[in-house]
Amino acid sequence: MLLRRIFTIALAAAAVGCWSMSAKNSSPRAASPETDATPFATPTPKPSATTASANSNTGPTPMTGQGTFYDHLPKSLSHPTDDVSKLLLREYGSVFVTKATPPTKIVFEDENDVAAFQKSVERESASIGGATVTLQKPAMEAFKAAIAEAQKSGISIGPRGGDSSIRSYAQTVTLWASRVKPALGHWSAAGKITKGDAARISALSPYQQVSEVLGLESKGIWFAKSLDKSIIYSVAPPGTSQHLSMLALDVKQFDDPRVREILAKHGWFQTIASDLPHFTYLGASESELPGLGLKKITSGNRVFWVPDIS
Ligand SMILES: [Zn+2]
Repeated sequence: MLLRRIFTIALAAAAVGCWSMSAKNSSPRAASPETDATPFATPTPKPSATTASANSNTGPTPMTGQGTFYDHLPKSLSHPTDDVSKLLLREYGSVFVTKATPPTKIVFEDENDVAAFQKSVERESASIGGATVTLQKPAMEAFKAAIAEAQKSGISIGPRGGDSSIRSYAQTVTLWASRVKPALGHWSAAGKITKGDAARISALSPYQQVSEVLGLESKGIWFAKSLDKSIIYSVAPPGTSQHLSMLALDVKQFDDPRVREILAKHGWFQTIASDLPHFTYLGASESELPGLGLKKITSGNRVFWVPDIS
């Protein structure tokens, strides 16, 4: 299956040492970490380097037009050339063509990085369905419009819980650590890794841990809660969640096709094929999406818009 194939590629890259998480050139992005309980969990890739050179675009988002997905990336992102950046964009990159303000990096490196971005954009909070939802302003306005439209048909739309919208870097670190720490303990007790290695990895920054963890997983040393599959099917690596950029929302009624249709009419699309409750604010109409370099994938009766890149 696609995700499996992509992950295999990712692991191959890790094995070859391509997981360059050099602090200097990481890039943007985000994915959404759900929990092990999520229907399909979120595969989440990882950081990497960004390189490259510019291409044509500017600013937050050229909305119309033709061109490839790369042509529509924000200028600040530059054109990724390493395998990991490409992998991340392929899996989670749709958010970069949003009409709102896209993340400035494929992987935010730390709390300051995330805080600086979150501070730079206008946000709005509202109490919806018993939880506080915080999103970028245009994303919130569109979400409220979707709620209002749904109400006319007696349909409710709301968040899955209190952490369904904005997240801090610390929250993504906590989720990550909740898998990494027990797994390191388990695998060192089992003799699969040395205690020294476990201690060394524990002492790394979350950003640095990602490549180490994925490298071990390429040898069958798994870090998901169940210890039998990749951590990326369980949580998003720190700094990669779309929730960090306030453009993602986990929707309680994600199983209702009418809800998905109404959200799509208001610019909220599903962009991560493995993460069923997760919606991303793109702010474009569905007919605009191919022109932004996205392609439609249908899985079951669900539609996902993902970057049209290889
Ligand atoms: Zn999510």
